[in-house]
Amino acid sequence: MAKDSQNKKIVVANWKMSPETIDEAFEILKKVKETAKTLKNTKLVICPPSLYANELKESLGKSKKILFGAQNVFYEEKGAHTGEISIDMIKNLGMGYVIVGHSERRILGEDDNIVSKKINLVLNSKLNAILCIGEKERSEEGDFLLFISEQIKNSLHGVEKKYLKNLIIAYEPIWAIGKTAEDAMDSRGVHQMHLFIKKVLKDLFDEKSSEKVAIIYGGSVELENTEELIENGNINGFLIGHESLNADKFCKILKIVDKS
Ligand code: PEP
Repeated sequence: MAKDSQNKKIVVANWKMSPETIDEAFEILKKVKETAKTLKNTKLVICPPSLYANELKESLGKSKKILFGAQNVFYEEKGAHTGEISIDMIKNLGMGYVIVGHSERRILGEDDNIVSKKINLVLNSKLNAILCIGEKERSEEGDFLLFISEQIKNSLHGVEKKYLKNLIIAYEPIWAIGKTAEDAMDSRGVHQMHLFIKKVLKDLFDEKSSEKVAIIYGGSVELENTEELIENGNINGFLIGHESLNADKFCKILKIVDKS
């Protein structure tokens, strides 16, 4: 299957607002660390709640087997912005990835204009941006394809070609998020969306530059559907929510991806 520009697959764990204590977070990390050591073809990025990030990261020492990412960033670099997290804070902690435009943030009012400010900020700061896109629902007329292409174009407004190697697009149909493997998109659908997203990128930039963008799938990736999706979905990896908090299952997922 296709791999990212460094020729590796990518698995991003989005822990969202979990777990409730840092001790539980350490428990998960302890187990995942053992599997991470064995990965040869897979880049693993964990995006914990930002309050835990520093301690978790420090606990791993200099090991680069687990990379860390933030779940969000504010679009202003400095200033009085209560509750927000700046790009420099993320960078200074040594976190190399930032999730931008997750549907759970878009629902709170984050529109494509805000998303594009954040994407540009992340990429211009030489960090890796994980841009989440995805339709709420599908109709037989296929309107969602226009929605997706507009979402990509608007979210990437102002992005320079030279930064595309640091961009990951996470296609996450909202109707498939937070459910079970049975409700997820099947590998055929994932493959089609991969081709469609590549075409939109090609029209927006050019063929060579768009090839540098890694495209991953998110939305109820569980142990049960991992193999089918990675073998037949033609994707560069996954963004995984709830199943990434179950360390035993998540480790098995990582092994499947690494072997594919
Ligand atoms: C997500 O919200 O990014 C996600 C992929 O969640 P889940 O795996 O729980 O569907």
